[in-house]
Amino acid sequence: MDAMPEQMVVGVDLGGSKINTILADPRGDIKARDLRDTCADEGPEAVIKRIIESIKRVVSGADIGGIGIGAAGVCQASTGVITFSPNLPGWHNIPLKDIVQREFGVPTYMENDATVAALGEHCFGAGVGIENLIYVTVGTGIGGGIIIGGQLYCGASGTAGEIGHMTIHVDGPCCNCGNIGCWETFASGTALAREAVKKIEAGAQTTILSFADGHLEKVDGETVFLAAQQGDCLAMELISVTGYYLGVGLVNLVNIFNPQLILIGGGLSQMGSLLLDPALKVVGERAFRLPAEAVRIELASLGADAGALGAVALVLQEKSRKG
Ligand SMILES: [Zn+2]
Repeated sequence: MDAMPEQMVVGVDLGGSKINTILADPRGDIKARDLRDTCADEGPEAVIKRIIESIKRVVSGADIGGIGIGAAGVCQASTGVITFSPNLPGWHNIPLKDIVQREFGVPTYMENDATVAALGEHCFGAGVGIENLIYVTVGTGIGGGIIIGGQLYCGASGTAGEIGHMTIHVDGPCCNCGNIGCWETFASGTALAREAVKKIEAGAQTTILSFADGHLEKVDGETVFLAAQQGDCLAMELISVTGYYLGVGLVNLVNIFNPQLILIGGGLSQMGSLLLDPALKVVGERAFRLPAEAVRIELASLGADAGALGAVALVLQEKSRKG
């Protein structure tokens, strides 16, 4: 018998800048939270210590049935090892799952953060009841998770869902992954900031810089959005171009997967229709008619908690699978 429904579950979202840890019941209601800086530059040992402290803080004597971790990096779900992370310096082959499991003595599961966020939206968010869905997180980069037949699709080595690194331009800009022309080099916050800086340096008329304290290096997706909200023409145009490229990648996903639903989350999703409308237009123009008619493309609903709630969902899914 599985005593799971009575027990609380811990969900940890390990990001490059924040650790968001929650204690939740099996319905996804958050009972406690600990949000702290990752301080990733202090290295794995210090970060692991902070993760353990964070979990202890939310558990605080509660009876927990498991711990889920969504980590910003390439994770081998079967072994619970973070093989590499562009956002966590020094993390090479760290067996985070085992370390946490040993510390707390409860079943522990780990997946990539965007992958668990997909599961979070599927179990507790905008994707409840949808069997075939793709979650796309658009922030500094682009990540994603693929749900097929109600189950996470993990692939042969557990690394599926790296949608941000599909090539959409064979001669495009260099990507952090070492390839060129990846989707995230065109449709992420980083890409948006890069194009804004180019235009400002070329002398374009815009208020974007005033939202970045006058510093070019502080220009990011957020500052471009703030300027756009105040009616800045260049900022609106840049977001529209980012939306266009977002749409180009979505066309590929629509044609390949024929999903019922694509959910857009991550920092840039706060731009709403400013980003989404041009993307939807491209999908309408370029995707095959039948899958384009079948898909809804909408904003995700769990916001910054998608990863932590997804980590909770991961525990529930793994435990129910083991019955
Ligand atoms: Zn790439």
